[in-house]
Amino acid sequence: MKTEDYIKLENEYGARNYEPLDVVITRGEGVWVWDVEGKKYLDCLAAYGALNQGHCHPKILETLKKQASRLTLTSRAFRNDQLGLFYKEICELTNSHMVLPMNSGAEAVESVIKAVRKWGYKVKKIPDGKAEIIVCENNFHGRTVTIVGFSTEKQYRDGYGPFTPGFKIIPFGDADALRKAITPYTVAFLVEPIQGEGGIIIPPKGYLKEVRKICDENDIVLILDEIQTGLGRTGKLLAEEHEGIQSDVTLIGKSLSGGFYPVSAVLSNKEVLGVFHPGDHGSTFGGNPLACAIARTALKVLIEENMIENAAKMGAYFLEKLSEIKSPYVKEVRGKGLMIGIELYPEAGGARRFCEKLMEKGVLCKEARKNVIRITPPLIIKKEEIDWALERIYDVLCK
Ligand SMILES: *Cc1c(COP(=O)(O)O)cnc(C)c1O
Repeated sequence: MKTEDYIKLENEYGARNYEPLDVVITRGEGVWVWDVEGKKYLDCLAAYGALNQGHCHPKILETLKKQASRLTLTSRAFRNDQLGLFYKEICELTNSHMVLPMNSGAEAVESVIKAVRKWGYKVKKIPDGKAEIIVCENNFHGRTVTIVGFSTEKQYRDGYGPFTPGFKIIPFGDADALRKAITPYTVAFLVEPIQGEGGIIIPPKGYLKEVRKICDENDIVLILDEIQTGLGRTGKLLAEEHEGIQSDVTLIGKSLSGGFYPVSAVLSNKEVLGVFHPGDHGSTFGGNPLACAIARTALKVLIEENMIENAAKMGAYFLEKLSEIKSPYVKEVRGKGLMIGIELYPEAGGARRFCEKLMEKGVLCKEARKNVIRITPPLIIKKEEIDWALERIYDVLCK
């Protein structure tokens, strides 16, 4: 079968909720992927940051094979010999006290919404049904009805109401707005350290530190959605480290499995996740032994193979070189670690056509919002590979 045949099948039978680039990938290794015609590409998207460890990392693969042939699922009706070890290792690594394992990012977000509401009623003693959660404009936290209900992206909401009440939206990067939005009923502030889907938007320096202070002063749970910024993406294990703060609750997902399996987690202090009692919440696959074993190895290789340091170093290099681009289309280049956005002027006609040209040249990128080319390669990328990509990015943006 050829590229067109696969595309035709997808178009004939699949829901059209995506508009992928017309490349049909059949194999991946490290930062590289190959299409069904045998053409090789550098993956500069890394599944929206879910492949920080690169495609088919051999050690994670080994774990998957071993665990899959031993035990895959027990459900939480019984215990398994991977879950406790996963808890311990991830808590030690991230300085957390309690973990709730889930599958997708959106489920982690949904879970924390339930947890902080319950915390608000049981611990903060807010009157029943009044709890408010503050979120930011231009956020992205997933695609469930509750989550898109507090999105400010029109298309994400269109046709899906009625929505869950109890959310208040403020501008991103504006600590004063947070201060003003707080009421006696506020239970939590949910925010991304850097907005990813929103177009790689970096808040002003000191923002998170100020936010931490405001949450402390008002007895509000600070929830950082690090599903995309976490696990080394920005050059630190968690993006909160750039400002020397600690959230009350951190959400991780995406690269928690190195791209092998959907795994997410709510990492929390004892007070918030402590509100859950048996029967309050659950997931058939959450915390299954295959997921836990894979996540343990995915975290292990991230640390042992110095991927986080590499993200910081290579990210700085990539950003510096991209900033030197003199192109009539480029408005701004910004980023932290290997989370980089090239924002184009609206007159450039959208980032999509540049992503298509880059694909032809062997570099896979995807637009974030309309005008930003997102560059988020696996954290194992080497300088030569960045240079290879740069040559092609220059070509597409400057010629
Ligand atoms: C991807 C993402 C999510 C949603 O994760 P899914 O696994 O797609 O449900 C939530 N928050 C952020 C910041 C993300 O980047």
